[in-house]
Amino acid sequence: MRRMFLVTGLAAVFAGFATGCTQRQRVNIETEIATALVSDEQERQIGRAVHEELERQGARAVRDPVVVAYVESIVRSLLGEVRREGTGPVHVHVLDAPEEVNAFATPGGHVYVFSGLLLAAGDEAEVAGVLAHELGHLVAHHPERRLLWLFGTETLAALALGEEPHVLAQIAASFAQGGLLAANSRADENEADEIAVRLTHRAGWDPRGLVRFFRRVRDLEGDLPGLLAWLSTHPTSTDRIERVRAMLEERGWEGGADGAVEHDEVRRRLRARSDAGSAPS
Ligand code: ZN
Repeated sequence: MRRMFLVTGLAAVFAGFATGCTQRQRVNIETEIATALVSDEQERQIGRAVHEELERQGARAVRDPVVVAYVESIVRSLLGEVRREGTGPVHVHVLDAPEEVNAFATPGGHVYVFSGLLLAAGDEAEVAGVLAHELGHLVAHHPERRLLWLFGTETLAALALGEEPHVLAQIAASFAQGGLLAANSRADENEADEIAVRLTHRAGWDPRGLVRFFRRVRDLEGDLPGLLAWLSTHPTSTDRIERVRAMLEERGWEGGADGAVEHDEVRRRLRARSDAGSAPS
């Protein structure tokens, strides 16, 4: 009951503030409301539901220990930086989908990387850039804000009270299919890019990896129509590439490791795997 009161109060505040304030203030207010409405336990629930939905759709995990350890170690290194920014534990999943260039993160701290993205990336710094971008969405609470926009305060409040089980299923399906919940606004994409270059730079990689990856998928687009799921939610316009490049130049962040040797080994293992028709390892 008390929670309901709080929620109604927040909704009134939200309606009152939504007009007549700056974009930054609006984002801050929305973030506060969204994080108040979506509890940690609910986030874990959504995370589990997305995972179950992906399994239901037949998603399979890559079990090659070298590949899994590679991705986990990248996330662990970035995580040292993310923890400082206030995010909880993160679970990494490498999905066996050599044709899909994709990665995404869900509430509850799950990061999904498709093997096609590892095959498409040129080196470790590029993979780190993309993963840091996905972690950036979590750090900045973009999924919670997106839930607020799409479902509104009343539905989220009912969900918090366990009254809307079908909404949970809808949320899980949307994430798993790269639907509305996976598509972020341009402002959110820019913010995640900024966080990504900061995290990769602090963790010791060349933060230009993200820019290289953007260029790479843009060039691949014509060759692999329909296969670049990441592109559909991450348009790599010249503007965007230029924006990240200028930000790096301004901050003087242009050096760092590329991890090309480790990445080549991972790609070799994944290729051998897809040549063998994804035989279990
Ligand atoms: Zn993004």
